[in-house]
Amino acid sequence: MGHPVLRTKALPIPAGEIGSVRIQQLIDDMFDTMREYSGIGLAAPQVHESLRVFVAGMRKVDAIADMSDDGEMPLVALINPELAPIGKHAEDGWEGCLSIPDIRGLVPRATEIRVRALDRTGQRVEFVAKGFPARVIQHEYDHLDGILFFDRMPSLASLTFMDEYQRYWREEDEEETEDQ
Ligand code: ZN
Repeated sequence: MGHPVLRTKALPIPAGEIGSVRIQQLIDDMFDTMREYSGIGLAAPQVHESLRVFVAGMRKVDAIADMSDDGEMPLVALINPELAPIGKHAEDGWEGCLSIPDIRGLVPRATEIRVRALDRTGQRVEFVAKGFPARVIQHEYDHLDGILFFDRMPSLASLTFMDEYQRYWREEDEEETEDQ
């Protein structure tokens, strides 16, 4: 936090450049970085590349349909994504961010979204995400617009350091709170 790129609206990746060594290497590096820091998501601006791509997920499954479950999330790289909420329902959940270490906060997010994007092969993908995967995707998408999770908090009263989160809040909410 503090690097200007995190507050900059990132640029789309031209479809013709998705297959380039530079973009493919960037995506590989982002997966590596996400794993190294035990994150659940990572957007290009977080590694100082102002481009509209993020990686997210926890395990290797190829069914993007899994996003409709409020459970584990498949590993995905999404390029030039577009999100649209389905319905008006939102819920609070704990979020953390690799760019804001050791902090958690309660953030309201739409519980169901439609996602359109290109995958790392340049193919169009479209799917519905619910619950936890929907939250992660909204957090990562915000990074592409220079928005950090506390910008989405109606109140900062729930901001907590990791130690205090573990001590006072973790047992009351079993949802995943890996950094994003
Ligand atoms: Zn983040």
